[in-house]
Amino acid sequence: MTLAGKTAVITGSNSGIGLGIARELANSGANVVINSYTNSDEDHALAAEIAKTAGVDARYIQADLSNGDAARNLIEEAGQVDILINNAGIQHVAPIDEFPVEKWDAIIAIMLSSVFHTTAAALPKMRDSGWGRVINISSAHGLTASPYKSAYVTAKHGVVGMTKVVALETAREPITANAICPGYVLTPLVESQIPDTAKKYGMTEEEAKQKVILERQPSKEFATTEQLGGVATFLCSPAAEQITGTTISVDGGWTAL
Ligand code: NAD
Repeated sequence: MTLAGKTAVITGSNSGIGLGIARELANSGANVVINSYTNSDEDHALAAEIAKTAGVDARYIQADLSNGDAARNLIEEAGQVDILINNAGIQHVAPIDEFPVEKWDAIIAIMLSSVFHTTAAALPKMRDSGWGRVINISSAHGLTASPYKSAYVTAKHGVVGMTKVVALETAREPITANAICPGYVLTPLVESQIPDTAKKYGMTEEEAKQKVILERQPSKEFATTEQLGGVATFLCSPAAEQITGTTISVDGGWTAL
């Protein structure tokens, strides 16, 4: 399968899952726009490295997705947008009665409202070009809950709901909208939780990974960013043309429990 001639915008793609998806789509021939809020030399170098390795056009566009106008500007600045991967995310863990309001607002803005803004800005472009794929990175936490993650779980469930609405609104068009729901993937977002978890439970970091973080993942293995990239690429393939409005879990059996 080739995605030559298509352009993919991947939000939050200077690390982790977003970067894995950007690399896989580029390796399938898509031009890619990578994004974060940082705008560092490394971000621009990363785009240049992807362009060179995959032989595609790869650009970095800065946008702080906590701001709705910035989210819409990202799509405008990208030009052609055939594939939209809504991936940017952050985490904060606290009981709901102690949850800092600014963290709630940031998580909802970055992980839920930005998906509304980028999708609203991208759909007219997909309609103009006659083909489109919206792929939202939700989570096993878009289908189940855990304590202390009120904002994250709310945002991820919201993304699943929005995905279904977009699928219904585009059902008669060559556009699909789906959500990928990963279990735990070893990215900077998860790695940053390991030392604190180990300390809290008086365990080594390896024990914390296996016994605490992967507790709900029956495979006892992390999913990889390459696997997530492969699933996103599949959703862009002809085999997935009739897959819309659904969730694909990549969670080692978590949501089968
Ligand atoms: P990560 O920390 O490696 O990447 C997060 C990305 O979001 C980074 O590129 C960061 O720059 C970007 N970002 C954060 N705030 C932003 C902002 N205000 N504006 C623009 N970009 C911003 O994390 P990850 O694990 O790769 O997570 C990617 C997505 O996958 C998130 O939505 C996360 O919730 C989801 N997810 C992750 C896991 C996991 O186990 N790692 C599991 C399920 C779902």
